Amino acid sequence: MAQTPDLSAPQRQAYSGSRIERAAALRADDAALAALAHNNRAGFYVFGGDAVVLKRQGDALEPLFSPGEARSLGAAGETVFLGLLDEAPRFGQGLEPAAIEPLKTRGDLKLIDLRSIAVQGAVDAEHLPPLAEGKAILGWHARHRFCSNCGASTKLVQGGWRRDCSACDTEHFPRTDPVVIMLAIAGERCVLGRSPRFPETMWSCLAGFAEPGESIEEAVRREVAEEVGLACARVKYFASQPWPFPSSLMIGCHAEALTDKIVIDKSEIEDARWFDRAELTLMLARKHPQGLTTPPPIAIAHHIIRAFVERGRDVLVG
Ligand SMILES: [Zn+2]
Repeated sequence: MAQTPDLSAPQRQAYSGSRIERAAALRADDAALAALAHNNRAGFYVFGGDAVVLKRQGDALEPLFSPGEARSLGAAGETVFLGLLDEAPRFGQGLEPAAIEPLKTRGDLKLIDLRSIAVQGAVDAEHLPPLAEGKAILGWHARHRFCSNCGASTKLVQGGWRRDCSACDTEHFPRTDPVVIMLAIAGERCVLGRSPRFPETMWSCLAGFAEPGESIEEAVRREVAEEVGLACARVKYFASQPWPFPSSLMIGCHAEALTDKIVIDKSEIEDARWFDRAELTLMLARKHPQGLTTPPPIAIAHHIIRAFVERGRDVLVG
């Protein structure tokens, strides 16, 4: 492409780049964790099911609650130790279902999902990684109350980073599900697809879960072949992003497509086609004549696409 794309300065993706030190050595020390939970610098991120509870402070929204404020919100479910921020303890706290409903009508609070918080820039960006950490780990607790080995109930230990079964002694660790998300490239063009769940104008990278016994490169090639029928050769890792909906790790890659003919698997995606770099530039800049868009900068897909617009097929080398 001849001219340099006229794009604004890059914005950061959401949920990664945490400043919190996880301080995993403290997780086994129940007395230390109890003291940290009452420390006057302790801050709690509070979750009501899938929603985050925010405090209204004038026009701003604040996600951190003091220990006393967190207790006053109602019966707590699980609490997990997220780590230390400049030595100030940070916790994630879930609420019992019965405690959530009364909060929805309180004028001093706002319950909102974490995706909307990121898209709207509703809180300071430095809170997004610990909110993602808290949502992912509390969501795991909510879905793993019983032992997958023997069916008995399990108990939270290690500051929330393990659940133990007292019936069969199995230790259960929180899971993160690897998802490959990739841009298949041939020369000046790449393939974007549409899921039926997307907003009407949005096109994005293809994506899918890596399967047991599969490398990242193999998962990329398989997903591209399954979804759009293209064969890929070289796969180049780009970057990753925690995506706590509910517990994914997005692994971003560029892939070199060897074939040209797209065959869509309608059970996976609604549509897919080739886009050249000039058209992608218009989409990123929100200036496409048909109003087509890419995902917003909070998502790694935006950055995978932008890297190809800026660097072309060089994203496959170096
Ligand atoms: Zn068990």
